[in-house]
Amino acid sequence: MDYIDTKYIQLVSASLENFKNKGNNTYNFRCPYCGDSQTNKSKARGYIFNKENKPIFKCHNCGQGATLNNLLKHVNPALAKEYALEKFGTQERRKPITPASKPSLRFQKRPEYLKTPLGKLKKVSQLDTDHPVRQYVESRQIPKRVHFKLFYAPKFNAFAHQFAPEKFDLIENDEPRLIIPFIDRNKQLVAFQGRAFGKSSLRYITVKIDEGAPKVFGLESIDRSKTVYIVEGPIDSMFLDNAVAMAGADLTADALNAIGTTDLVFVFDNEPRNKDILRRIEKVADLGYSIALFPDYVKEKDINDMVLGGRDPDEIQAIISNNTYKGLQAKAKLSEWRKV
Ligand SMILES: [Zn+2]
Repeated sequence: MDYIDTKYIQLVSASLENFKNKGNNTYNFRCPYCGDSQTNKSKARGYIFNKENKPIFKCHNCGQGATLNNLLKHVNPALAKEYALEKFGTQERRKPITPASKPSLRFQKRPEYLKTPLGKLKKVSQLDTDHPVRQYVESRQIPKRVHFKLFYAPKFNAFAHQFAPEKFDLIENDEPRLIIPFIDRNKQLVAFQGRAFGKSSLRYITVKIDEGAPKVFGLESIDRSKTVYIVEGPIDSMFLDNAVAMAGADLTADALNAIGTTDLVFVFDNEPRNKDILRRIEKVADLGYSIALFPDYVKEKDINDMVLGGRDPDEIQAIISNNTYKGLQAKAKLSEWRKV
């Protein structure tokens, strides 16, 4: 970014709540698009940073991105005009009206998983803002950018019946559930979980569609050239960048193959008294993988609870990076960490 950009960031900062200059051409403030956390006024998840020498706005809560010009237009249209004038020497460049600027009707291929009965359900992102399921998902503070990954089945048994008629009967008192689909890297639906909203005896019901496929959540959207984080629960994985969830599955060769990189960090639930979890951490540490162990001051048992307890996902990501160990160090830290 140049001096004109910085000047206008300073000028607009008066209209941005909790504005902080973090140095290095990075600015942090409450997102003016989603309003950021309504319950926690100190939360600020809007960022301006330098990308290819241009200032870019991004919100880590709602996922909104914008150029500086568009951010200014949203916050202070008069200032946006001055900015355009000073920056481009004109009031906003008009796009030339040529046949090329006609709206493109490029064919977007419908992904395979939506060609199943899943495609007939509504995504949480498509529900009205006052819909109880949308409100439930928001109350868990699941980031808006991933709401399209969750679906709503008003009648769970009737939905599951279409995949496994031998296991799910059509019943009178069918119940609604949140559907968490497991999609592989070829965008095929391999399994799904139905999470109950109320006090159901079974909080999660898992339905396998492709029996042979490893049950790993998030395979369709990870970047295999970067570190992949492996957590336990699909919802927990939604708070981290580049994470998958094992959802209780074993770390088989097939699962590792599907994840498709060896640059992995395992993030288990924060339960240093749980013998089963300790055994599983020990196993992956013995295999030579990196493990993250939450420090003592973190009391919550899983990532979603940490978020509900007021920790920002960026903070959790930083705690994980600062507490990742490997090899002999992992073994030493694990024996310090374990409480049994
Ligand atoms: Zn936002």
